[in-house]
Amino acid sequence: MNNPAVLLRSDIPEVDPTQTQRFQVYTEKQLDKITALQSLSQEQRFAMRVVANVLPFRVNQYVIDELIDWSNVPNDPIFQLTFPQAGMISTESFNQMADLLKKQASNKEIQTLAWQIRSQLNAHPSGQKQLNVPKLNNEPIPGLQHKYRETVLFFPSQGQTCHSYCSFCFRWAQFVGDKELRFATKEDDLLHQYLIEHKEISDLLITGGDPMVMKTKHLVNYLEALLSKEFSHIQTIRIGTKALSFWPQRFVTDNDADELLHLFEKLVKAGKHFALMAHFNHPNEMQTDMAKIAIKRIQNTGAIIRSQSPLIRHINDDPMVWKTLWNDQVKLGIVPYYMFVERDTGAKSYFELPLAEALTIYQTAITQVSGLARTARGPSMSALPGKIEIQGIRDIAGEKVFVLRFIQARNPEWVTQPFFAKYHPTAYWLNDLQVPDFEGTKEFFFEAELGQMLNNA
Ligand SMILES: *Cc1c(COP(=O)(O)O)cnc(C)c1O
Ligand code: SF4
Repeated sequence: MNNPAVLLRSDIPEVDPTQTQRFQVYTEKQLDKITALQSLSQEQRFAMRVVANVLPFRVNQYVIDELIDWSNVPNDPIFQLTFPQAGMISTESFNQMADLLKKQASNKEIQTLAWQIRSQLNAHPSGQKQLNVPKLNNEPIPGLQHKYRETVLFFPSQGQTCHSYCSFCFRWAQFVGDKELRFATKEDDLLHQYLIEHKEISDLLITGGDPMVMKTKHLVNYLEALLSKEFSHIQTIRIGTKALSFWPQRFVTDNDADELLHLFEKLVKAGKHFALMAHFNHPNEMQTDMAKIAIKRIQNTGAIIRSQSPLIRHINDDPMVWKTLWNDQVKLGIVPYYMFVERDTGAKSYFELPLAEALTIYQTAITQVSGLARTARGPSMSALPGKIEIQGIRDIAGEKVFVLRFIQARNPEWVTQPFFAKYHPTAYWLNDLQVPDFEGTKEFFFEAELGQMLNNA
């Protein structure tokens, strides 16, 4: 290593070069090759095959060997996070697919049924597709999304997969080959041109899939240009990633890991705020030596690591898990950022929690940590009008209500205004909520304006 900034500090473990792992990944066709699964019953393994033919499945050897406690399967949170479970699709869908596999139906029949089942799941929630695609010279730019004034989302085409897949992920449509998701050819030019034309943008958020599956040279291509003067309005560059959980080697032993860290350092030295938005669902993901080394190496470049995660049944639906997650993060110098409510798509009935329960878990956890861990906001729904945080439950004029506020919105003026919704113990999402009777109206304060925005789009 030729740059002192990426040298390891003495208080963190060293990398043992003989332990360096090759990236080995398994998909549904290779389920039988995963030795660790041999300990499960025939039935359990068959059930996995059934679900893996519908929902995306991909797991790598590091996750299998270092993150899953196989003595605690099927309850182990990382096993639930990465391996398909029978309850993730409806009993009817499950039985249909199981029948096809049992009678060794053709691949075509299996694919047809798989798409039929998937079409019942909501692949593109919250009007993402129609509403947020920005334009250059009247042509839509498919790899960009511009929903909130200050921040543009960029989906580079080389970053549309992940080192493993999360079983709950709403991005599943792109992993199973939704051909509607096309990508621009001159993406870097389009991105740069759009940013130059939109001086109101201060934040670029690169997302996926996982942008960290990209080779460093592609990231350099997108990001180094931003150091020139015409991009001085871009103050913050964030990359959303789960690589610290699924493949921390990306920052340590991969061929171009050092170049990657040098890129981070260059951005920081040029005065940009550079942040990795790490996706951690469970404290077990941060416990390995490799993860700890990766975290330190990234921080030594001056980059900030923030963390965000949805709240998911079977994986982290326990306040003690969140308390540990946030405390461990503060210990590691990671800033807790968002707790999300699981989105209204995919295998949601298996993973979702009512808003009331999500609030209880958040409150129980957040009251037990110090102020430095209370930077975690939530539980928050990323919905059509914006990110809505559930703040609490009150009695107002004899009515039990949820207290809500926007923490991000299509109209920035909506942000931080408290508003109310009728309490309902099994409301899961914004569209389950109603305006309280005492308001004397049926519409939330933002709905008329949102309707206009939708009409104008
Ligand atoms: C969450 C989100 C952002 C970033 O919002 P912050 O509150 O700045 O973290 C940007 N665009 C979209 C579409 C988002 O969902
Ligand atoms: S890493 Fe992110 S994009 Fe990839 S499967 Fe998990 S949640 Fe989805």
